[in-house]
Amino acid sequence: MFLQLAISAMNRAVAVVAITALSGVLVAGQTPTPADPQPAAARLDVLKRGIAADVDGMRVMTQQMTDMVFSFGELGFQEIETSKYLTGVLEQHGFTVERGVAGMPTAWTARWGSGKPVIALGSDIDDIPQASQKPGVAYHDPIVAGAPGHGEGHNSGLPLQITAALALKHVMEREKLSGTLVVWPGVAEELLAGKAYLVRAGVFKDVDACLFAHVSDGLGVRWGEATASSGLLSIEYTFTGETAHSAGAPWRGRSALDAVELMNVGWNFRREHLRLQHRSHYVITGGGDQPNVVPRNASVWYFLRETDFDRIVQLRGIADRMAQGAALMTNTEVTSRVIGSAWPQHFNRPIAEAMYTNIRAVGLPQWDADDQTLARAAQKELGQPQNGLATEIGPLTGAVTATDNYGGGSDDIGDVAWTVPTVTIRYPSNIPGIQAHHWSASIASATPIAHKGATAGAKVVAMTGLDLLLRADLVAQSWDYFRNVQSKSTRYQPLIAPGDVPDTTMNAKTMEQYRPALAKFYYDPSKYKTYLEQLGITYPTVKK
Ligand SMILES: [Zn+2]
Repeated sequence: MFLQLAISAMNRAVAVVAITALSGVLVAGQTPTPADPQPAAARLDVLKRGIAADVDGMRVMTQQMTDMVFSFGELGFQEIETSKYLTGVLEQHGFTVERGVAGMPTAWTARWGSGKPVIALGSDIDDIPQASQKPGVAYHDPIVAGAPGHGEGHNSGLPLQITAALALKHVMEREKLSGTLVVWPGVAEELLAGKAYLVRAGVFKDVDACLFAHVSDGLGVRWGEATASSGLLSIEYTFTGETAHSAGAPWRGRSALDAVELMNVGWNFRREHLRLQHRSHYVITGGGDQPNVVPRNASVWYFLRETDFDRIVQLRGIADRMAQGAALMTNTEVTSRVIGSAWPQHFNRPIAEAMYTNIRAVGLPQWDADDQTLARAAQKELGQPQNGLATEIGPLTGAVTATDNYGGGSDDIGDVAWTVPTVTIRYPSNIPGIQAHHWSASIASATPIAHKGATAGAKVVAMTGLDLLLRADLVAQSWDYFRNVQSKSTRYQPLIAPGDVPDTTMNAKTMEQYRPALAKFYYDPSKYKTYLEQLGITYPTVKK
């Protein structure tokens, strides 16, 4: 709170001058020793106020990056324009980019600085099928009908992190602080198909702490096991039979589609006898060519979710046997391939506590009447309580046990969180009550709601980055928690096998189909201040 007031009261230049002067006084002598913690704490406080002011000063840049990534609208593994653009921004600011990391053309790392600590700043970049939507419009109105869109809001995550990284770089240069920043994207998060490969490729080998960012409708962080959350294995079963004339001599054929259908029927009966915490769902990815040809090939893609590693592996065993049973029944053969995986999430307590202090200091964005009007109209459209945008920060939560977790979505940040101390900041760039993985989650994603939320989130990440850079005790505590509490009875082992590789051809056809239409709407910040302006949208546009 104090920060918001202090910073809005001063203009940025004044704030930076004042802070530089102050910190100059504090830094002039030797670095304060731990025995004399007061000056160190006071210096950190001053630097935090300065870095928040610096993030405020980069608001336009954050907005432009958020709008730009929104306009690309790229699905997992096809984040080509997104990655080209974001790495370009980072290179312009002196970061060294390595592309094509872990066998994924759209994955990369961008490093700056030297020495310890090494702080990784990440967020996802991919979007959702069929979620194209005009921002700022509170009812379904696609930019390109049927096209993918940011129906979760991943477009603001890396703009937030890049803003935080640049603010940290400014302080590190000025104060001559040791440390390395590594900005990285979550590729194909919606397929849960990127991060386990980044871990396996050693991207986090020298990392001391990872601050991850995910869009939300509030501002918060938690530690310990996640609630309403699962890990998963994403696996496709492919059956092979024999073609024949479906009417003339069907007895000469063996139907792979029959096998897919029998597997699904079997699974849906078995579902009753699985734990309530389990969740599973499938889509048929291949069902044959045409009705008068007995389908030789058919495949079905399952997400198998459970709340711990052993149970995910057990679930896979059940599915494997189910597939073998269906192959036996239909006289077909079956193979399988792992497409993705995610470990259940567990977040670091000391870093979450430090981040939560910064969250309280930054506070929620100041929403204006237009923001609230859009939010309430979107909530009305979806039949949700019309409470508008978040106005309160919830408590820091943690200390739940596995028995409190009845399962839910997954995020492959779990694999990173079991490799190095990690937290996820949830920042307020979306509307409470909107539907995730749906066009409605795109409504706010390139509007002042998303922009303000990303700026608030960037302040918190930058301030927590300073905590890590200046407090060796925090880094030590986070590793103590990671080794002696989190990993005490559970050890990370990948759900992917050594032979599994990312299938980076996924979504290629869909993007090929829609990219030319989407390209006509790519954001041009040289002509338009905002994407709303470029699209000619009055903010907010709501039903009368
Ligand atoms: Zn997400």
